[in-house]
Amino acid sequence: MNSYKLTFEMVPEECWYSNLRSVLKPADWDIVRKDAYARAGGRCSICGRPARLEAHEKWSYDEERALQKLEGVIALCRSCHEVKHISRTYAMGRGVDAMEHFMRVNKCSQMDFHAALERANEEYLRRNRVEGWVTDISWLETKFNIKLR
Ligand SMILES: [Zn+2]
Repeated sequence: MNSYKLTFEMVPEECWYSNLRSVLKPADWDIVRKDAYARAGGRCSICGRPARLEAHEKWSYDEERALQKLEGVIALCRSCHEVKHISRTYAMGRGVDAMEHFMRVNKCSQMDFHAALERANEEYLRRNRVEGWVTDISWLETKFNIKLR
């Protein structure tokens, strides 16, 4: 459905685990974060530009099984990260910057941006109708042998 390089990621309201740094010990979060930075080699993993990097958690959502699964942690520049969390970014008054970055990275028009945002909002509403999301963070356990505190 979406072949853009830079996409929005819609986290259902119920999925409070989506913020790994709040459930991991600080030392464990550091390990995960620094691994992502090391892999990125100083460049944003999506747009490729050299930047100060932020760690972004990639989750997948299986609506039929109500399963939220951690797929990995990647290093992103602030602009790509702000596109990922577009609702929060709009709330912070940075929506226009995020839109311009989305259009630049995906080489698309403002209309394309709005269409993609509309699809993402539909996805968000659909995911919010699912109850009892279960979180799978086995990626952390497999890769780093980290358990939740
Ligand atoms: Zn970027």
